[in-house]
Amino acid sequence: MKNLVNQPVLLNDVEFKASQTLTSHKEWNWLNPQHGDIQHPANYYESSLADWHQFECLNADVECDVLVIGGGLLGASTALHLAEQGVDTVLVEKNRIGSGASGRNGGQLTPGLARWEAEEMIEHLSHADAKKLWHFTSTEAMDLIDSILERYDIQTARKRGHITAAVHQGHLVALTQSGDARKYLGEDHTQVVGQHELYEYVKSKNYFGGLIDRLGGHIHPLALNRGLIYGFCQQGGQVYEHTEVISMQEREDGIYVETTNGCIKARKSVVLAVHHASFKLLQEKNQTTIPFYTYVCTTAPLEIEINELLPHDHPVYDTQFQIDYYRGVSKNRLLFGGQGTGNCWNAEKTGHYLKGRIQHVFPQLEQVELDFVWSGTTDLTVNGATDSRKSESKFPIYAVHGWSGHGVAQTVRIGKAIADDFCGNSSDFEMLTQIQHQDILWGRALAPVVIPMAKGAYGLGAMMNPGKMVSF
Ligand SMILES: Cc1cc2nc3c(=O)[nH]c(=O)nc-3n(C[C@H](O)[C@H](O)[C@H](O)COP(=O)(O)OP(=O)(O)OC[C@H]3O[C@@H](n4cnc5c(N)ncnc54)[C@H](O)[C@@H]3O)c2cc1C
Repeated sequence: MKNLVNQPVLLNDVEFKASQTLTSHKEWNWLNPQHGDIQHPANYYESSLADWHQFECLNADVECDVLVIGGGLLGASTALHLAEQGVDTVLVEKNRIGSGASGRNGGQLTPGLARWEAEEMIEHLSHADAKKLWHFTSTEAMDLIDSILERYDIQTARKRGHITAAVHQGHLVALTQSGDARKYLGEDHTQVVGQHELYEYVKSKNYFGGLIDRLGGHIHPLALNRGLIYGFCQQGGQVYEHTEVISMQEREDGIYVETTNGCIKARKSVVLAVHHASFKLLQEKNQTTIPFYTYVCTTAPLEIEINELLPHDHPVYDTQFQIDYYRGVSKNRLLFGGQGTGNCWNAEKTGHYLKGRIQHVFPQLEQVELDFVWSGTTDLTVNGATDSRKSESKFPIYAVHGWSGHGVAQTVRIGKAIADDFCGNSSDFEMLTQIQHQDILWGRALAPVVIPMAKGAYGLGAMMNPGKMVSF
C-alpha cells in the first residue's frame, strides 16, 4: 500500500515559521528577531520548503525484514533502495526526517569518502581498488542522485560545478596534485586556474587561484532527503517519526528492537543510519569517531545580485584548515558555513563569527544581515575515511559513521550499496568495510578537549608552513 506522501515543494524564497522538529540544545536554530519571536524557528532549509507530511509515531509491535534506524540521507537512501528491490522495510526516526545533519548541512556536493580524496585512496589501495572507490564516491554518487531525482520527479535546486579556492599560493600545488590524482584514476572533470581566472568565478580578492570541478555542485539537502523518503513510500515503505530506538537484542528468529512506544522485530537485518550516534546503539567502549559541532548561516537578501559575487553560481570551499564554505541560495541570499568545535557554540557567538567571515571574504558587501543561523553535529575518524561496518552475526547489522562534515552525495550512494549488499547484488559495501579504523579510547567523551588541541596543533603547523594545505 502506498503512503500518501507528497514530493517536497520548494518555495520561491522562505516562510519564517516554527520548526516542526523537536528542540535539542546541541542542534539549535536562530532566526533574526525582526521576523518574529518564534521559540524554535525553522532553519533556512525547512523555511524554504512547504510544510510536509508528518509521519506517526510507532505505537504498536511490528515486524519487517529490514529495519532502518535514522531518517537522514543515509537511512532514506538505504530504505529506498531496499524497497525498490522488494525488501519489506521499515524506517524509524527519533525526531523528524532530515532533522539531523542531512537537513542542516552546507548542501555542497563534492566527491570523496569524507576526508579521503583521490590521493589518499591511491596511497592506501591498489590502483584498481582506488579507481573503484574513487568512482563509487564521485561519478557514481553524483549520477545516482540525478537518476533518483529524475525517477521520482523531485525538485531540489540541484546545480553543477564546484570550486576549491586557494588561500595560499602554495595550496595551488596541492590542488594540482589532487586534480592529477583524479585523472590517474580515470576521472577528468577538474581544471586548476590562477588568481585572475578564479576571479571570474568568485569576486573575492582573497584567493590565489583554485580548482574548478565540473563534477561537484550543490543541492537543497532537505528536499533531497524528503525526496528519498517520498520514493521509499511510493515503493510501499513504512516510516515512523518521533520513534527513538532505545536498545537492540539479537534472538534466534531476528533482531528485537525496542523503541519508545513499541517493539520491532527485524527478521533479517538492521541498518544503523544514525551518524555520530551509532555508538550508543552498538554499546562499544572503544569508538572510532569523535563528534564535533559545526555551523551554517543564511543572509537576508543581499543588496546586490548574488551573481555579482558568484557569477557562475558555483559553491565554494576554501583551503583553510578552519574552512569557509558558501553558495548562493534563493532570493539573493548567501548561505555560509564554517568552524568545528568540541563544545557547542551559542547562536550569538556563531552569528558574530560567520558574519565576520562573510565580511572578510566579500568586503564589498556594505550591509550584511543574517536571517538564519544554526548548528549541526558530525564526527571524524583518525584516518579521515568513513567507517562502514557489517556485523558477522546471523542477522547482519550495518553501520556507517565518521563523515567529517562531508557526505551529502556519498550517503546516498552508500545507502544503495547497503541495499545491494543485503540483496547479494554487489560487493561495493564490502569494499568500504575493508578500510581499517583506529579505536579512540574515550575519544567521544574527550571531544571538548581533543578538538581544540588538534586545531591548535594544525594552526601552529599552518603558521610555520602556510603553503602546506591541510584542509577539512
Ligand atoms: C553543519 C554541517 C554542514 C555540512 N556540510 C556538508 C556539505 O556541504 N557537504 C557534504 O557533503 N556534507 C556536509 N555535511 C555532512 C553531511 O550532512 C552528513 O555526512 C550527512 O548528512 C550524514 O547523513 P546521515 O543520514 O548519516 O546522518 P544524519 O543526517 O545525522 O541522520 C541520522 C538520523 O538518525 C536519527 N537518530 C539518531 N539516533 C536515533 C535513534 N536512537 N533512534 C532513531 N533515530 C535516531 C537522528 O535524529 C537523525 O535524523 C555537513 C554536516 C553538518 C553538520
